[in-house]
Amino acid sequence: PEKKTIHVGEFIDNTVTLINVEPVGENIKITREIDPEDLEISADKKQISQVLINLIKNALEALKDTADGKIKIKAGINENGRAQITVTDNGPGIPDDLADKIFIPFFTTKESGSGIGLSLSRQVMQLHGGALKLESHTKNTSFTIVF
Ligand code: ADP
Ligand code: MG
Repeated sequence: PEKKTIHVGEFIDNTVTLINVEPVGENIKITREIDPEDLEISADKKQISQVLINLIKNALEALKDTADGKIKIKAGINENGRAQITVTDNGPGIPDDLADKIFIPFFTTKESGSGIGLSLSRQVMQLHGGALKLESHTKNTSFTIVF
């Protein structure tokens, strides 16, 4: 990765703007919460943008049949002092037996899915010395990227 200093708040705003929410429905609300507000990371902007887009797109797709869809993007410092970004949606969740399969390349439950988003995103995070984790999968689905 080509690492540069990234202001996380601006980065999230720019990435969310890149995604055209309309085709999915206006019933979905995206909110962000960054603490500290001036949080910075050292990362490859293009690659991390692609990871974040993958996670938000998955959340949007998961919410297509949810009446009051919500996506929360939360950024901060974890208990190990690492910066992290979590994307949470209130969609149907991921069944227990699929929780570790979803990271396998080409695994998809979508009719026209490629199944490469999560495996590629995890690879990008590992190349950054970080990780991509599924934190919660039954009620509010949360994926976290750690730097
Ligand atoms: P694709 O989106 O092309 O199916 P991904 O690698 O991005 O491939 O995701 C793999 C699978 O993980 C999806 O097909 C879906 O079953 C599951 N998944 C990913 N994100 C979510 C989510 N937010 N809510 C429910 N299921 C999800
Ligand atoms: Mg996907």
